[in-house]
Amino acid sequence: MIENTTLTDSAYDTIDVLNTKYKIGKSTRLHIKMTDACNGKCPFCVARLGKLRKENIIDHLEQKIKIAITKLNVKNVVLLGGEPTISKNLFPILHELKKYKQQLSEITIITNGVKLRDEDFVHKLANSCITAVNISIHHWNKRINSNLMKIDSLSKKELIKIKNMLHQQGKQLWLSVVLMKNYIDNTEKALKYIKHYATIVDQIRFFPISSTKEHETIPDVALFTKSHLMESSVLQSIIKDVIAEGTKIQLDPAKFNPQAYSSAMVYHQHVIFKSTEIHKDIDDEKNNLIYSIKLLPTGKLTNTYHDRGLDFFQIFNNVKQRRGYDEKRQK
Ligand code: SF4
Repeated sequence: MIENTTLTDSAYDTIDVLNTKYKIGKSTRLHIKMTDACNGKCPFCVARLGKLRKENIIDHLEQKIKIAITKLNVKNVVLLGGEPTISKNLFPILHELKKYKQQLSEITIITNGVKLRDEDFVHKLANSCITAVNISIHHWNKRINSNLMKIDSLSKKELIKIKNMLHQQGKQLWLSVVLMKNYIDNTEKALKYIKHYATIVDQIRFFPISSTKEHETIPDVALFTKSHLMESSVLQSIIKDVIAEGTKIQLDPAKFNPQAYSSAMVYHQHVIFKSTEIHKDIDDEKNNLIYSIKLLPTGKLTNTYHDRGLDFFQIFNNVKQRRGYDEKRQK
């Protein structure tokens, strides 16, 4: 199955924001960034320095979720951070999302998994409207992964327990892996990783590490991402070899050529390669193109992870603020 993340002309609606036309995808994703803080310290992630700031994320939550789903075409929700499980707002937000369960195809949470050692927490999560829990594990070797993420990462035994609890409620367990030099960086390791977790999880998502721009991050994160980038030819050969092994795969056509590959299912789970380039955080300003909505810890419902983005809550609720925004934008 090919997952098409490219926005074609027939795949968007047009919305008018104070005389400016924006193209908005017919099926957009809402990223709810629960917090800037994390209990882990991955060297490729700016959240390693994130502090638990005062969060206004649940201010006007009901209206914001409603705007996202009814006006901004959100069909898919991802809860992330920092580490979303350390936010006290997690279950209030899930409670609100539950009202729109029928309209949403996926509600997932991306976590480093530490909090999932708490059985009551997993039970609560499994009984919420979550459709899948997505745990980040970047190496099958627990020691290597723990050293990388600076956490005590979950063992296979612990994952099985979590999977069983989720499956009992019809929910899935996914894993996310960042492909980077010195970790999962060739076919042999990719297949070893897949085989290690094949019988445990429902889906494995491989994300090639992307180079973080210096001005968007802190120097050591920029340095790490740059020095651990994977070459495109190596990624292509990993994909080709993984498919040759018979694993069902989804490819991002913007980065990889889907015509080159066929699929079959051997390990009973998906392996999805994602290009991080296509999932850029900001909208395409030149074309006023929006394919992803963010709800930030500050409470802003917007189209970017940065302050300069549109404020959809104000746009749909308050004409004065809209004018204010527009004037600011013209300067
Ligand atoms: S666990 Fe996730 S949020 Fe935390 S530092 Fe690592 S990548 Fe960043």
